[in-house]
Amino acid sequence: MSDTDSPEMPNIKVGVRFSGKSREVTLKIIGMHCATCSLTVQKALLSVPGVLASSVSLASDETRVVIDEDSVNYSELLRAVQRAGYDVYREETTILLSSLSPGDEVAILRALDRVGIFNVRFNFINQSVIIEYNPLDVTVDELTQTLREAGFKVISVRSGEIDWDVDRRAVESDLRDILRRLIVAIPLTTAILIMMLLNTYSLISTPLYNALALTLATPVQFYSGWRFIKGAVRAFKNATANMDTLVALGTLTAYIFSVLVFVGLLPGITFFDSSAAVITFILVGRYIEVRSRLNASSTIRNLAKLQPRTARVIRGSSEVEVTVDELRPGDLVVIRQGELIPVDGIVSEGEGYVDESSMSGEYMPRHKKPGELVLAGTHLVRGYLVVSTTRSGRYALISQVIKLARQAQASRLPIQSLVDKVSSAFTWFVIASGIATLIAWITVGAPMYVAVEHMTSVLVVACPCALGLATPISVVVGINRASQKGIVIKDANAVEKLTRSVRVVAFDKTGTLTLGKPKVTAVIGGNEVLALAATAEVKSEHPLAKAIVNSALEKGLRLGNVVSADFLQGIGVVSQLADGTLVAVGNEKIIEGLELKVPSNLSETASRLRAEGNTVVYVAINGEVRGVLALGDEIRPEAFRVIDFLSRLGLTTVMITGDNYINARLIAGKLGIKEVYAGLLPGDKVKVINELRSRYGGVAMIGDGINDAAALSSADVGIAMGHGSDITKEAGDIVLLGDRLDQLIDLVKLSRKILNNIRTNLVYAFLYNAILIPIAAGVIPGLTLRPEFAGLAMALSSISVTLNALRLRRA
Ligand code: ADP
Ligand code: MG
Repeated sequence: MSDTDSPEMPNIKVGVRFSGKSREVTLKIIGMHCATCSLTVQKALLSVPGVLASSVSLASDETRVVIDEDSVNYSELLRAVQRAGYDVYREETTILLSSLSPGDEVAILRALDRVGIFNVRFNFINQSVIIEYNPLDVTVDELTQTLREAGFKVISVRSGEIDWDVDRRAVESDLRDILRRLIVAIPLTTAILIMMLLNTYSLISTPLYNALALTLATPVQFYSGWRFIKGAVRAFKNATANMDTLVALGTLTAYIFSVLVFVGLLPGITFFDSSAAVITFILVGRYIEVRSRLNASSTIRNLAKLQPRTARVIRGSSEVEVTVDELRPGDLVVIRQGELIPVDGIVSEGEGYVDESSMSGEYMPRHKKPGELVLAGTHLVRGYLVVSTTRSGRYALISQVIKLARQAQASRLPIQSLVDKVSSAFTWFVIASGIATLIAWITVGAPMYVAVEHMTSVLVVACPCALGLATPISVVVGINRASQKGIVIKDANAVEKLTRSVRVVAFDKTGTLTLGKPKVTAVIGGNEVLALAATAEVKSEHPLAKAIVNSALEKGLRLGNVVSADFLQGIGVVSQLADGTLVAVGNEKIIEGLELKVPSNLSETASRLRAEGNTVVYVAINGEVRGVLALGDEIRPEAFRVIDFLSRLGLTTVMITGDNYINARLIAGKLGIKEVYAGLLPGDKVKVINELRSRYGGVAMIGDGINDAAALSSADVGIAMGHGSDITKEAGDIVLLGDRLDQLIDLVKLSRKILNNIRTNLVYAFLYNAILIPIAAGVIPGLTLRPEFAGLAMALSSISVTLNALRLRRA
């Protein structure tokens, strides 16, 4: 969040107009359990001025809100959610300051204004600040840091630490609540059923049975069933109806009818057993469902556990233990055999084998020696490493992966909006069907209790709860499965598009189809040219630049100093050296741009090198083309399989590259790619993407996230080959972390499985309703469904949808 904070910005809020700075916030909502709930929460959030977008996921209980930084604060979001009858998961920390007086309030509030704070209280007696914060957005360390920066001395902090385990605790508190209600419901319901049996065999009289049943059913109805009644009232206040409405309506009808019969106001028989049994069954079902839902996002939670909280750092001649959040770039961290690596960094000493499966999905341990990158959350299986930290702990790649995956869990697929609308309309339909059932049975002259019983069954069985769960639960499990394979899905919409609308896959060449580790294969112009070219390229991140620099260093050439360098994307670089020399390195475009002439012998050599499969760059010194460098890059061995796989699925494959056509054509030919667009600047790639779209339909683009950012974002699905850099900033909807192109095959397969899973879920959910409503209404002769079995069926539908989604964990 700090990258949008700029110290120059005056800290004044102006109106509610969009200031141009938006920020995405993830909140965990408490109390949602059906599709209507998520719509209600979404509506409430959107009604807050300054909220630009909001989407709510039922399966992860999370909502993703895009807010205008300057006009919304967290407490307004919290109030909106609470007004709608729900709550936001918050955590509290108490920070003890060395001094705190009433005058400090304003300063503290102002300092905390920009971070994820819901509420701040001050205790001037013991000089502490009690902060309610959003653990998904801010850590206690960041809070203390903010206070320190505002000039306060922090004495101690009391509370949990950085925490990705909030789902578990939120779910666990829900489970405890259900359990408490079940402990009452199960024995009492069992007792009612025994009494009923005794009554059937005339072992106790009917009036006695009714009195006992009423006594036992009342706590079940109003204590165990309170969850539903409360939910129904909340929905009613918001002028909506949801599954709680149906369950509360169904059971209360049965209960009240029975009470009226018991006191003699209505003729007929009581059925206290039904109302109690329905509540018990649905609670048991809910318990199982919530428990298994906990498994849905277990992968991401486990990932969070992989980053150690502390690290051993070399300070002077000794090692000290510090928390990862205290690590600064450049700190030397010691890792011993068998330990998890706590930071992202470069090996500076030692060597060993590192299991990177948690990040890349690749199980083969990799050998790491000085100069190589290691990532937090990976495992040193053998050896000893001293790692120089490149990023402070909370910016480690693993934290970014977790943050992105959590956000994606809350993304809504297009299918889901439709399902939500259907299920919220369906609730009203069910209420109408219940009433119609009641009236129909009375009209045909059936006893009142028969009519009420059928109505209860209809209300209970038809609850569209499973329907609301069908899409999001598969999305959550699927995203978790993907992250296990080293695939970070930033937006789940991409999964649906990849399966349903993408017709053509466009590949970047360098670094995507090729290894991106080119080597200088020929130098025309001698060592002087190479040394100058390398000097000019020193500051460039481009793989070609690195290859040129490495080649010069390997030859033991001395590099000069650069005063200024101009990096031209897709073209090359122009650098001014300390001694005044102007060096340009790049392709034909740089020659055209600088209006230079290539001597004919050099241009002939260039063509020959290109025909041999090299990428060729010219080196111009002080306006004179003095040499040519040829760089060869190997095709990734897995690229052949990937192209073959996509072609067999009927997708068109295309290469779009900034490199020269001759070389591009050569590589495309080897891979079996028929369409090649070469010599493109980053902006041209966007045009090609749009052209492909109009010709074929949906376009997926795969490239490296930094160079190809524009193309990736203009494609329908942008897939970035992540290189362990800052993936939150990289473009693209999906990032492949393993640096393996065949992860694309995994991705395509998994996307299809997720979509199939959703379809199966929707079928399950619809089938229950479609088949059981007529039976519950008693329309089908010879078939009846007692309310308790209706409750059981309802519970089973949610459970079967959840279990079906969990199958994706092995997809
Ligand atoms: P691709 O689209 O294949 O990934 P890029 O767009 O990154 O390729 O670069 C395209 C071409 O631009 C390269 O083949 C090279 O000729 C030239 N180029 C880009 N950056 C540099 C650089 N730093 N030094 C030399 N040549 C460069
Ligand atoms: Mg590239």
